[in-house]
Order: sequence, then structure tokens, then C-alpha cells
Amino acid sequence: LTSFPVELIRADFPILAEKIRNKPLVYLDNAASCQKPNAVIDSISHVYRHEYANIHRGVHTLSVRATDKFEAAREKVRGFINAASSKEIIFVRGATEAINLIAQTYGKANIKAGDEIVITAMEHHSNIVPWQMLCEQTGAVLKVASMNIQGELLYNEFASLLNNKTRLVAVAHMSNALGTINPVELIIAAAHAHNIPVMLDGAQAIPHLAVDVQALDCDFYVFSGHKLYGPSGIGVMYGKQALLEAMPPYQGGGDMIKTVSFEKSTYAGLPHKFEAGTPSIADVIGLGAAIDYLNEIGMANIAAYEAELLDYATQQAKQIKGLRIIGEAGDKGAILSFVLDRIHPHDIGTMLDSLGIAIRAGHHCAMPVMEFYGVPATARASFAMYNTRQEIDVLMNGIESLIDVFELS
Ligand code: PMP
Repeated sequence: LTSFPVELIRADFPILAEKIRNKPLVYLDNAASCQKPNAVIDSISHVYRHEYANIHRGVHTLSVRATDKFEAAREKVRGFINAASSKEIIFVRGATEAINLIAQTYGKANIKAGDEIVITAMEHHSNIVPWQMLCEQTGAVLKVASMNIQGELLYNEFASLLNNKTRLVAVAHMSNALGTINPVELIIAAAHAHNIPVMLDGAQAIPHLAVDVQALDCDFYVFSGHKLYGPSGIGVMYGKQALLEAMPPYQGGGDMIKTVSFEKSTYAGLPHKFEAGTPSIADVIGLGAAIDYLNEIGMANIAAYEAELLDYATQQAKQIKGLRIIGEAGDKGAILSFVLDRIHPHDIGTMLDSLGIAIRAGHHCAMPVMEFYGVPATARASFAMYNTRQEIDVLMNGIESLIDVFELS
């Protein structure tokens, strides 16, 4: 723990010095969105000050400069997840758009009435609703693999759902509501044994784990920049080149075509085929800056530090009478979801806010998970590499003090 340079890292995040209600900010809502280091903020500012023009079309110097920076960021993303080619990196608005893209292109082209799509009981709404929409459009059937009370996938049940009607498996790498890290290697091996492609929703896993899409051998991997210390409004869809080549385009427009006439248009090659219109240029470059920053720290170091933080938080939480942790998977990322006897999660969130502590209270876009646990909502503290043990102490003291207040009243 001592060797991780958390104080140096904190100094790189200006917002962490904010005071909230006259108290130092304790930001524990990282699973919703992470804060940004100076490296990202400055890179975006630098683009607009020195490098901004539209990309891929201008012959002028500034456009060439912006295009080079944009494509360099694509290469950084490729390296970060170890994709085989930067053609496999498609920029989208976020994980949500990536999943909708896959459903509406790959899905529409390959999934028909009676076919099956397998997800799990712990998915975020954005990995449920796009498949339901596709099922409504095609007559395909959504199958859901259950979990146990710890929030772990029932792997055998999952495997038994795979058959010759299954066309796609779409699974969270890490759950946002519970923190569960799914056994994705096993899931992928089981699906591939039936020639079924696998999409991993990496929205939560990406800031916590080193991800190697070639080692995983997943077919699609999606994530959002804003949870990776990068800008909001930008995300990534990775797909294996052969799959992407065979998929029809998503949106039509500029930049995604080779030729256009009123009779017929032909499409650009990868990755541009899936990137219609002017993209979020500065945000892509900002995402590249976030990746440079993370590479300097090292994802393995981040994972080790956060595992210790989660352990500490879990131990402390277990000391609190009346606190129930929701999600206790053996393999878990830095998320602590909990409920308190007699105190609604929204009250927990509001009262902690008065102490400067930012957590999330709600269903976390995972209503079926709440239903499974029989709770309307949970309080969720989610940790990032810049959080400290002292902040966890502040959180736990805050929870103790609000229990006192409720018990007195
Ligand atoms: N999947 C998971 C597991 C998530 O946690 C989130 C964001 N909460 C999403 C998908 C959707 O990400 P975005 O809203 O950035 O598109």
C-alpha cells in the first residue's frame, strides 16, 4: 500500500481539492464517472488552443495535425487493450452506444426469429435493453443466466443455456451494481466451443484491470472513456476485424463512405465505416492522454492498490451493526454496495453529502439486481486509484454518525 504513490496521483486531479459543504470532498462515485487528471484536462485545452480542425478531410496543416493526433489516440487505445490492429478500434459515444451498435448491425445481420441471446442477471440496463429491442425487432429470445446470493454467476447454469440456437453471449466483465468480476475466460471458452461470439461490457472493468482482448479472445469489448479518467461523450467498441468487416454500417453520413451517388453508395474500410460524421475530436485525444497517464502508473499497480482499498473498506463495513453488503463475490472490483437497516439509501446518500462524501444511491441502472436482492436501491461507494484509507475512514465514520442520528430520532 505504501509504495503506491496515491498522494502524487491525487495532486494530479484538481477537483479532489474542492470543498463540498465546507468539507474536503471525498469522491466515492467513481463507478458512475471518474474525475480527470490535469493530463487529460490540459490535453483537451491544448487541442482547442493549438490543434483543432476537422479531421480526415482537410489538406491544410491544422487538419493534418488534428488527424494525426486523433489517429495516434486510436493507436493508444489499441495498445491499451492489446488489439491486433487499430482498425478494430471504433470510436463511439460510450459503452451504451457501442452495445446498441453491435445489436443493430451484427445483431440485425445475424440474429433471426427463434435465435437466442444469452446475458446474465447482473447486467446494466445498457446490456439488457438493446438486446430486448433487437428481440422485439427480430423475434429472437433473450436468455438470462442467474447468480447466487453472493452475486456470482451460476456458471453451470450459464453453460447449460448455450445451444445451437445461441447467436451471441453478452456479459459484463465487471458488475457496476455488485462489483462482481465475471469468469470471462471460462465464459468465452464455453461459448466458443459452440462457435458463439462473446461481447464483454467492459464499462466497469476497464479502469480497474489490465485488459488484453487477444488473450481473452473476446469478439467484442466495449467501454466508456469517462470511467477511465478520460472525457465523457467518448467510448470504444473493439471488434475482431473479420467480424467488423462482415458487419453492415451503423449510421450513414460523411466520413464512412468511399463513394456516393444517388444510385448507390459504397462504404469506407475499417474503422471509418462505423464512424459517420464529425467525431468528438478533442475527447478522443483526451482519452489518449488518459491512457498515457494510466500506462505510466501501470494497471497492475492500480489493481493491487484498489484490491487493498476494497479489502479495507469491506472489513470496516462489516464492523458496522445493521449494515448489509450487497454483492460479496470472491472475485470483485472496487465497489461496495450496501444497505442499512431502517435507513433508505437515498437518505444515506443525502446525509453523507452533507459531510462532503459523494456516493451513489439508487438502482444503479440494474433494476433486476435490486429485485433479486429484494431492495429498492442500494448505497454504493466505488473506489478509484486516487482514493485513500483515510477517505474510507471518513465514509465509515459518516455512516456510523447517521445511524446514531436515526436511532436517536
Ligand atoms: N455497462 C456498465 C457495467 C456500466 O456500469 C455502465 C455505466 N454505468 C454502462 C454499461 C453504460 O455506460 P455509459 O453510460 O457510459 O454508456
